[in-house]
Amino acid sequence: MKKFQLTAFFSLMLFFMDITAGNAATMAKIFYTVTFPEAQAHYADIEMDISHIKQGTLVLKMPVWTPGSYLVREFAKNVEAFSASAGDKELSFIKTRKNWWSINTAGADHITIKYKVYCNEISVRTSTVDASHGFISTSGIFMYPEGMLHQPSTIHIIPYTGWTTVSTSLEMVNNDPFTRQAPNYDILFDSPIEVGTQDVFGFDAVGVKYEVAMYGGGNYDKEPLKRDLAKIVAQETAVYGENPNKHYVFIVHNYLKGGGGLEHLGSTVLGASRNSYGTPAGYQSFLSLAAHEHFHLWNVKRLRPIALGPFDYDNENYTTDLWIAEGFTAYYQDIILRHAGIIPADNYLKVLANDINSVENQPGKKFQSAADASYDAWIKAYRPNENSANSTISYYSKGSVNALMLDLEIINDSHARYSLDDVMRYMYQEYYKKLKRGYTDAEFKHGLEKFAGKNLDSFYNKYVYGVYDVDYNHYLGYAGYQITDDLAQSNTPVLGLTTVNTSGKLLVATVVRDGVAWKGGVNFNDELVAIDGKPITDLTTALSNKKTGDKVSVSLNRDGLPLTLPIILLRNPQVKYRIDTLSTVSPQQIIVRNKWLKL
Ligand SMILES: [Zn+2]
Repeated sequence: MKKFQLTAFFSLMLFFMDITAGNAATMAKIFYTVTFPEAQAHYADIEMDISHIKQGTLVLKMPVWTPGSYLVREFAKNVEAFSASAGDKELSFIKTRKNWWSINTAGADHITIKYKVYCNEISVRTSTVDASHGFISTSGIFMYPEGMLHQPSTIHIIPYTGWTTVSTSLEMVNNDPFTRQAPNYDILFDSPIEVGTQDVFGFDAVGVKYEVAMYGGGNYDKEPLKRDLAKIVAQETAVYGENPNKHYVFIVHNYLKGGGGLEHLGSTVLGASRNSYGTPAGYQSFLSLAAHEHFHLWNVKRLRPIALGPFDYDNENYTTDLWIAEGFTAYYQDIILRHAGIIPADNYLKVLANDINSVENQPGKKFQSAADASYDAWIKAYRPNENSANSTISYYSKGSVNALMLDLEIINDSHARYSLDDVMRYMYQEYYKKLKRGYTDAEFKHGLEKFAGKNLDSFYNKYVYGVYDVDYNHYLGYAGYQITDDLAQSNTPVLGLTTVNTSGKLLVATVVRDGVAWKGGVNFNDELVAIDGKPITDLTTALSNKKTGDKVSVSLNRDGLPLTLPIILLRNPQVKYRIDTLSTVSPQQIIVRNKWLKL
């Protein structure tokens, strides 16, 4: 505690020294006050004071997206009641773009801008305000003056009635938890703020002060949670060789049903189901999410594709490397739990088999490469429709499988001298620390080749730019494991579609590419009424007396009109892999296995 306060004090001093070292005379000063007079109606009220302005026209901008979540979300749509003034004098302004406000300063040196933001979208990347708390996702709340992204700002928060606590990675000003500072806008937009009555507890790990801020209650048990999070922190820090933070905050939103997470430089926001901590599976899944987002503080927040920083807050930022930034992180989120000794090897192998199943059971794996999935995240992954599973692959799961193959390849070829950890540490040291920039596609490939000891052109052509099938037994074989499909002998007939029950109607949610429903002409949103004249309540029951090769009549309602289609049932093409040890394992395979799973 003492150490942290000292560190915070020194950072504060450095911060002020920084400002004075810059050209203070020409630097605008930016001060925000955030209030919640109508928290119950989901509003945050923002007052922005800018002084030392030297320009006749000042353009204020609201980002259109939040880093880490690759979708243009149009945060300006939530802005209301914008006004600008200088003292008692109102200033005129016009909107010059959807997210730009151009103010005529009339020569004033100090102006005040006021606006309200409607905050009622519950997610880890959007702001939510109600009487119980305020979650400030900063990129959708704070406007910035054009050309001043490098400028520091101060944020003062006046809480709603009953709110007592602020949780954020932004440093305090004068030890006041309600006044925070950001050295520049990239940091402000990467530092969410939770205000309310959240349950805050902390732990120290690897010399870093960690804080957990739990909103929404839940059946979490603090002591084991702190112990396990500390193990994850230590293990992930060991991958990179250093932890760049002095202070890190896990902001957790517990809802009846919650999920998702968003990474930041010095914090993360996690969504959880408040009663999920009590079961082993629920607890492991939370730890896996925490491990994922925390791993990002290196992979993507610091070690990053070159396109992801400095950010363009007005437009999409394209990269073909989300299969590394997200996919490698998805790989580490579970193997870290194994490496930290939180889960045993057999548990990890089950999780891994499920990851492989999710790639192999997605028809889109044959149509979209890992690089294309990354590039088109803005229009595909974040804008899914009923055909997404047929045409796309997740850069998370595909990237995770790529990471698995590369990790095993590197361990095997180096006789367990190196692993993927060495690549990540090298890339972090080389590009974040030394060159202070992001990496290109070729540079990351070069980093992998350095430790694999071989050219990876063929790997990239097959699995990064191509859609080749993976020979899992080849790679798992390095560690003396094999996969077996538990459904290989199954002859269960399927229609090749999924359904959703809406108001008592069984509607088609997806039609699986090249399945019998696809070929037979069943459409998305058709209502399934009967099979062979027998009304359907659920698909499993409806097909329980059928077998592969049976010809059935499927009665549907499409747009209110009845329709009957003849369909020949085929066997379920889905796979369900499990990973087992080979019956005979060589000394080399044991060496690889022990290195891979830290046994
Ligand atoms: Zn992620």
